[in-house]
Amino acid sequence: PKYRDAQFLTSASRLSQCPEDSGWEVAFAGRSNAGKSSAINSLTKNHKLARTSKTPGRTQLINFFSLSEQQRLVDLPGYGFAKVPRAVKEEWTRQLENYLAKRESLRGMILLMDVRHPLQPFDQQMLDWALAANMPVHILLTKADKLKKGPAKNTLLKVRSGLAAHAELVSVQLFSALKHTGHDELVAVLNAWLTD
Ligand code: GDP
Repeated sequence: PKYRDAQFLTSASRLSQCPEDSGWEVAFAGRSNAGKSSAINSLTKNHKLARTSKTPGRTQLINFFSLSEQQRLVDLPGYGFAKVPRAVKEEWTRQLENYLAKRESLRGMILLMDVRHPLQPFDQQMLDWALAANMPVHILLTKADKLKKGPAKNTLLKVRSGLAAHAELVSVQLFSALKHTGHDELVAVLNAWLTD
């Protein structure tokens, strides 16, 4: 797919509002501030796209971007930290879990975490849901430029070995939107998931 052709498709606040469940989809998840918008921007070279997801008052469960008729990128907002009533959060959590469990076209999850704070409870929850659905997860350790090469590599190896029991479904890489580190590695994973 041509990631530069990504176009905003729709936002859904309920599963019933998702586009038809056909073709291929990859979801991006991360705590707020993990660097998700920056990663989507750097991938699509479209600075307006991911900002859509951040418009205040438009916090949605899921944002869909189309790459082609049958290929989509999906932005799962860092909903856990949005300032909304607890009941709304709980409902979103339920819908999100459902989306991850039921969506046929969803081929994998890109899970972004700040290289300086990997595997927070939110990340573990996402991993658990994805693994329960037998879905591959590719972890981006973001803002890799914030650490020196040695410590960044150490974190990569540590996260990788911590998840070794799930090595068939989980992969990990360093990423920096700022320095364009790991761009090709990410594209290779997306290409594989979006075509098979
Ligand atoms: P989001 O909330 O997950 O969408 O995160 P953003 O993409 O908005 O990034 C959060 C903050 O981290 C912003 O201040 C970004 O400028 C910064 N940031 C994102 N990616 C990088 C990166 O690769 N390197 C550095 N140094 N900062 C980054």
